[in-house]
Amino acid sequence: MHLTDEQKDEIEAARERSAPTRRATVPALEALLYQPIAVLDHGFIRVIDYMGDDAAVVQAARVSYGSGTRRVSEDAGLIRYLMRHRHTTPFEMCEIKFHVKLPIFVARQWIRHRTANVNEYSARYSILDREFYVPAPEHLAAQSADNRQGRGAVLAAAEAAAVLELLAADAVRCHEHYVAMLNEGPDGAPLDPERQGLARELARMNLTLNTYTQWYWKIDLHNLLHFLSLRTDAHAQYEIRVYAEAMLQTVRAWVPATFAAFRDYRLDAVTFSAPMLAVLRRLLAGEAVAQPESGLGRREWAEMMAALGRDP
Ligand SMILES: Cc1cc2nc3c(=O)[nH]c(=O)nc-3n(C[C@H](O)[C@H](O)[C@H](O)COP(=O)(O)OP(=O)(O)OC[C@H]3O[C@@H](n4cnc5c(N)ncnc54)[C@H](O)[C@@H]3O)c2cc1C
Repeated sequence: MHLTDEQKDEIEAARERSAPTRRATVPALEALLYQPIAVLDHGFIRVIDYMGDDAAVVQAARVSYGSGTRRVSEDAGLIRYLMRHRHTTPFEMCEIKFHVKLPIFVARQWIRHRTANVNEYSARYSILDREFYVPAPEHLAAQSADNRQGRGAVLAAAEAAAVLELLAADAVRCHEHYVAMLNEGPDGAPLDPERQGLARELARMNLTLNTYTQWYWKIDLHNLLHFLSLRTDAHAQYEIRVYAEAMLQTVRAWVPATFAAFRDYRLDAVTFSAPMLAVLRRLLAGEAVAQPESGLGRREWAEMMAALGRDP
């Protein structure tokens, strides 16, 4: 992650400011506020602002005139109840705003989450930086043989080196052509005074998908947890998963009781279908059940055995 001296100064200045307020603040999140948390080779997330805390969830659930909180254990119990029974609207009372720097191909997956407010860096208005995501060699894997959306074994060293060379060379070449088409130097002056230069909104189509973009992304806690449950999952692509995992750490700092309930009832929990439950009941009764007569397909059977920690 590279930040210019000017950007570092701006972050420092923001961190030095403070204001008295009657609103709820969370010291653990205040400590993280504005600080970039590095993700991938040039990306980051940083918390820009937030509203509410665990107590705000409780307060809304009790539709209270005051803080609405009781003993810590009672409040945590209520939050766990809400999470367990998918009584989700109290979690929508908290909001958080992130600044995210991410490769364009990750942004394409991310933008599918429609319940956030997004404002992206405009490549019609500004020139995109010469920064590309190039995976670490241990993340360069072959196509998975059994999962069309996944990765298999890591590439051998020679093939990985060749892939890295192609990725870097293509990204640099496309960016060089982008700048050439714009005909604009870093100071904004034309590179060639004889040429008009192509509009930014057109020249950008030449950039590779690993070019970094940036956005401000604001979402309420309920929808953030939905995003995190999908994108921290092992089925999500590594490059978006690492962003979700970094955000999960900010959620832990911000709303620790909600985080614990989310971990227990969503992240680390397993849902069994009705046929799975029937199999579970037979297994608990001491019956030997095999996949062909279980009523489950091979894949569902394997998933259930994995959840139970048994051989398929
Ligand atoms: C591992 C993985 C693989 C994926 N693979 C693909 C793929 O191959 N191709 C592809 O196109 N996408 C793919 N996706 C994207 C996925 O289908 C969803 O678009 C994405 O995860 C956003 O989920 P969401 O709609 O629940 O979230 P949000 O957009 O945040 O919506 C949250 C919830 O709000 C409700 N909602 C929001 N908008 C509407 C609406 N207009 N109508 C009805 N209900 C609405 C729904 O209940 C929804 O669950 C993949 C996602 C994951 C995690």
